[in-house]
Amino acid sequence: MCWYLLTPINRFTFMFDRITNFIRNFFEIIFGDLRKFFSPKERDPIVIVEPDPEDLEPQDGGDIPKDTTVTVNTNLEEVVVMPEEEEELPPPEIPPTSTPKPEPSFEPEPTPEIKPVPKPEPEVSTPRHRFLWCLDNGHGKLTAGKRSPKLKDGDRFFEYQFNRIIVKGIIKELKKHGIKYYNVVPEVSVDNFLKGRVLRANNVPSSIPKIFLSIHANAGPGTWTNAKGLETWYFHGSRTGRKLAVVFQQQLVNALGWTNRGIKSQSTKQFYVLKRTNMPAVLTENGFYNNRKEVYSLLDKDIQNKIIKAHVDAILFFEKHGI
Ligand SMILES: [Zn+2]
Repeated sequence: MCWYLLTPINRFTFMFDRITNFIRNFFEIIFGDLRKFFSPKERDPIVIVEPDPEDLEPQDGGDIPKDTTVTVNTNLEEVVVMPEEEEELPPPEIPPTSTPKPEPSFEPEPTPEIKPVPKPEPEVSTPRHRFLWCLDNGHGKLTAGKRSPKLKDGDRFFEYQFNRIIVKGIIKELKKHGIKYYNVVPEVSVDNFLKGRVLRANNVPSSIPKIFLSIHANAGPGTWTNAKGLETWYFHGSRTGRKLAVVFQQQLVNALGWTNRGIKSQSTKQFYVLKRTNMPAVLTENGFYNNRKEVYSLLDKDIQNKIIKAHVDAILFFEKHGI
């Protein structure tokens, strides 16, 4: 290149490129490839799901678009179950008392011992478990949103944490009762893993029927909301799903005494997990984490235990009576 042929501007550009190249080369000689310094660090393995149009389907109550028609029923009618026949036990056999002695005695008569009659085993033993409960904890640590605004202490409520506390508590109780369960997503570092949740539940082998139970906490529009209370969702038009929803909602309302927002379903924009699981499914929304008051209840251990117990009681109901 002939220096004298360049215009003053081009001379400046030429000199600037030379200088920046010199600086870059200088640092690369010392530190190596600079790009390595700015590449993201390797993290724990993360389950990444490619965005899919199906993922636009709402995950839970917090994702419902405003124009969606929702079917709500707050009158939780009794679920009719066939009463189980009570076994009639034979009256306990009392050994005959000994005949009174002819002579009065100072020794008190020994009280006849009544031995309890062992309860006979029913001829057809009821199964110890009827269903495989696929327990879904809703979201992962990497799911955007799904957290409260900053709380008084500067911390936030994270829905994935709450959902996992409830599922963990339910599992602990189901183990005691010998009821079958499947923890759909034991991992924490997951993003919108909706497809994975559904596939896992649909594909888990089971010799008994499966039921999908998804646990969530709710969020209303805006930063903070006045919305509060409990609601339970089922797949629109599913009689079995509706039956599940009635019992879960009833147990939750009874246990917590919170606002009954009813059982809900919507014909369009149904929740992904309710729509795509190939088994009866139900989704509970346990209070609003962006309600200034309710969020603190959701962080309370005693309340969490009540929510756990309500779910377990509903499960025990269906284990006892069937669906
Ligand atoms: Zn949720």
